[in-house]
Amino acid sequence: MAWRSHGVDNDSLVRALEKNAIIKSPRVANAMRAVDRGNYARHKEKEEAYYDHPLPIGYHATISAPHMHAACLELFEQADATRRGAKVLDVGSGSGYLAACFAELVTSEAFRNGEKDETGEGIVVGIEHIEELVVDSLKNVERDGKGRLLETKRLMLFAGDGRNGYKPEAPYDAIHVGASTPSVPDALLEQLAVGGRLVIPVGDSSGQALKVIDRLEDGTFKRRTEMGVIYVPLTDRASQLSLF
Ligand code: SAH
Repeated sequence: MAWRSHGVDNDSLVRALEKNAIIKSPRVANAMRAVDRGNYARHKEKEEAYYDHPLPIGYHATISAPHMHAACLELFEQADATRRGAKVLDVGSGSGYLAACFAELVTSEAFRNGEKDETGEGIVVGIEHIEELVVDSLKNVERDGKGRLLETKRLMLFAGDGRNGYKPEAPYDAIHVGASTPSVPDALLEQLAVGGRLVIPVGDSSGQALKVIDRLEDGTFKRRTEMGVIYVPLTDRASQLSLF
């Protein structure tokens, strides 16, 4: 990207993303304002948490750059796939940052504040294949003051191979994949709801494109390419740990 949307704290980061028109909708702005990126960065990179670039989170994984998180959240909002009450699957949930943003979008403020029961609230499932990162991500969400989402299982972060999706909560209105793959896993297409949207980086180390795949009313899939991207690979644990 030609520009960067740096901030010095979470609010100024969100404002910069709005100014550069990466964030377009008030709902995405509110969700990103409510999830403090500083709580999802490791202690040693905390000062850089509000810069618009990816940060290492260990195990050869990164928390994606804020402009990528914002762009993906906007893609789901455009399709109404992250409306309140929607079901979301985040494959490669890493730090838990994006999963927490999804949870902000699909649940109501009254519920999150403990003033309302769970009726009509959405569900977010994050799948991450590095168990240590799952443990960290749960701590990050707690630190961000979102323990209620975990306790009520409106936000669930599990260890597992995301290429298989997560059947128990399928179908999903929104499926986000945070790591690139040479081809779209069949399980993810199968677990996408009719009217739902899948956003997935497809390619290899020589080039990747962010694909937007919608499941139409007749069950067929409509695919388009959004932009060129660089993501870490969707792979198995041993390959990821031996990278570089
Ligand atoms: N969106 C997240 C993480 C992006 S990095 C964030 O911003 O924090 C991509 C993540 O995908 C890494 O954490 C990596 O460990 C994970 N990953 C790679 N292959 C996977 C697989 N097969 N199943 C589940 N997670 C995987």
